[in-house]
Amino acid sequence: MRRLWIDGNQIPGDEKPRKAINPASEQVIDEVSWASVRQANAAVEAAKKAFPKWRRIPANEKAEMLHEVARRLRQNLEEIAEELTLETGQTMKKNRGYVEWSAQCFDYFAELGRHYRGRVIPSPEGSQLSLVLKVPLGVVAAIIPWNYPLLLMVWKVAPALAAGNTVVIKPASYTPWVSLGFTRLFEHFPPGVVNLLTGSGARVGETLVTHPDVRMIAFTGSTEVGQHIMRQAADDMKHIHLELGGKDPLIVCEDADINCAAQAAVWAGFLNAGQVCTSVERVFVDHQVYPAFLEKVTELTKQLVIGPGIDPTSQVTPMIRPEEREKVDLQVKQSVDDGAEILTGGRVPPDKPTGFYYEPTILTGLAQEMEILQEETFGPVLPIIPVSGFDEAMQRANQSKYGLGATLFTNDARKVQRYMEEIEAGNVWVNDPLIDNVAGPFGGMKRSGIGRELGQEGFEEFLDTKHVHWEIEGGSKPWWFSSG
Ligand code: NAD
Ligand code: MN
Repeated sequence: MRRLWIDGNQIPGDEKPRKAINPASEQVIDEVSWASVRQANAAVEAAKKAFPKWRRIPANEKAEMLHEVARRLRQNLEEIAEELTLETGQTMKKNRGYVEWSAQCFDYFAELGRHYRGRVIPSPEGSQLSLVLKVPLGVVAAIIPWNYPLLLMVWKVAPALAAGNTVVIKPASYTPWVSLGFTRLFEHFPPGVVNLLTGSGARVGETLVTHPDVRMIAFTGSTEVGQHIMRQAADDMKHIHLELGGKDPLIVCEDADINCAAQAAVWAGFLNAGQVCTSVERVFVDHQVYPAFLEKVTELTKQLVIGPGIDPTSQVTPMIRPEEREKVDLQVKQSVDDGAEILTGGRVPPDKPTGFYYEPTILTGLAQEMEILQEETFGPVLPIIPVSGFDEAMQRANQSKYGLGATLFTNDARKVQRYMEEIEAGNVWVNDPLIDNVAGPFGGMKRSGIGRELGQEGFEEFLDTKHVHWEIEGGSKPWWFSSG
């Protein structure tokens, strides 16, 4: 049984242990410890105690410890990828990539932490030094969803530590086992700098969010929980960083390579069974190429291989839990009741009674008001919508309360220019959806969140700012009250 990690000690949870489930086989992987509110408080206490010492450790020594995390990730790449596949259901191929990518992220922030403390600016007074000093915040709570338990933890913890903060990590309830195993990445840090505990979102998560000694909440998850966290953070005026849901559009212009755009839509719609925050959930296609696109996208979807992530031939892997699958199936059924048509999918695959699979689904005949075009769908569903042209595509793409990612397929530079300026999204892709880069920011607009992860922006999130005015020569100033 994997245990909690508080103040450098592996400890059993106060609460009854939980079972970790493999979504491809429905079998129990192991039991895991479950923390109580008391233990959440203890983890914050440990992080608070570790902070004054950690912040003073020279940046090059911190960097060495962060590079060591990258080394441990690479040394254990195969094993970590296997564990991710067991508990999240995703393919080994993608999981190997996520481990390597996580290592790159630690290497990147290790170096960024050595290179940046703010800036010096000219002072209006000749004898003064003006410094913009960047300082750590203190204890950071990192709250993680189940869809990318390693990557989304790393995107927060690497910059938080590089900036000199200490952290308490709370993984999602569906992925506790693989997450508790991440303890082995951080064992070389001083006790309390990193703490990791599994537990209920409403109890352990909420304890971290409302704890007066937590100075920042870095959260990835649903918009609903993000809104709740933002309200709760108001009392102590905590820093918040929220990466939330999306309803990403993909626009296909009449000049685009239709086969290529169809392949990309299938990839971005069905990767991880659509359980990606930036999965494509609305495809707007110019009416001139709509019939050809629809035919291609349906043909490609019917060919997809559904199966477990451990099998190298699998393309569409299971969903995380039957409850999540049920939500998606209800959304699809509702849209059909409202007049939509299923071209393929829309059901549990008949040959897969075991495992939480759902067939990749193509929908047409959709009206703007339908829930399926308004609310996030966290599953393998691709709604295809014909539009009169680029203007309508842009207008409808922005007709959403979300603004996480967007993709445009075109070879027309004028369309790209207008799209990149006017699309309401933080992650803006042209001719290649879902591509990422640790050196640049990731995040959403509107109800998709506040703040950015990765890149210089993702580092600054974990720093506070001071403006230091330092009179070096000293002596009284002519504008002070004269003392007679
Ligand atoms: P969720 O909001 O249900 O849970 C996320 C985390 O918050 C979990 O660890 C959970 O235990 C915790 N939590 C729940 N209630 C809490 C509370 N009251 N206080 C504090 N913590 C609480 O989300 P999920 O189902 O795990 O993940 C899916 C969602 O995450 C989707 O909406 C998806 O779009 C979003 N997501 C966004 C991004 C992004 O970068 N924008 C990336 C991945 C996933
Ligand atoms: Mn999605």
